[in-house]
Amino acid sequence: MTYDPGNIFARILRGELPCHKVYEDDATLAFMDIMPQADCHTLIIPKNAGTGIIDTSTDALQATIATTQKIAAAVKAATGAPGVMVIQLNGSEAGQTVFHLHFHVIPRWAGIDLKFHARGMEAPDVLKANAERVKAALAG
Ligand code: AMP
Repeated sequence: MTYDPGNIFARILRGELPCHKVYEDDATLAFMDIMPQADCHTLIIPKNAGTGIIDTSTDALQATIATTQKIAAAVKAATGAPGVMVIQLNGSEAGQTVFHLHFHVIPRWAGIDLKFHARGMEAPDVLKANAERVKAALAG
């Protein structure tokens, strides 16, 4: 699949669309998923273009995984969740809906099912508050 520079995450990276940012460095950006499957569901993306895990450079992938590790720890600390799920989808057949590589970090509790994937927009004030919780955990 050819990378489309008009995809939503590329537009967020260029500052054309807003996001609830929790972390940024030279190579990666992390922000709240606007249709979270659980509180503090966070996405981590490389700044380099690539639709998925196969066509993204190894350097960009390594940076993205390193940030994902940080965010997984921060989401776990921010929510107190005993478990954390990391997901990455490649291709529409696999359920991918935005074609710029991203990892999902989703906190999990026993007996609490995930909300549906990419449905149900969260209120901006809730996303803002959750971004602050994860940022505080990153700082702590
Ligand atoms: P995937 O289906 O793995 O490609 O996941 C794409 C994710 O991006 C979904 O969980 C969506 O809820 C999320 N999403 C779509 N648009 C935005 C946006 N503008 N800001 C933040 N998250 C988004």
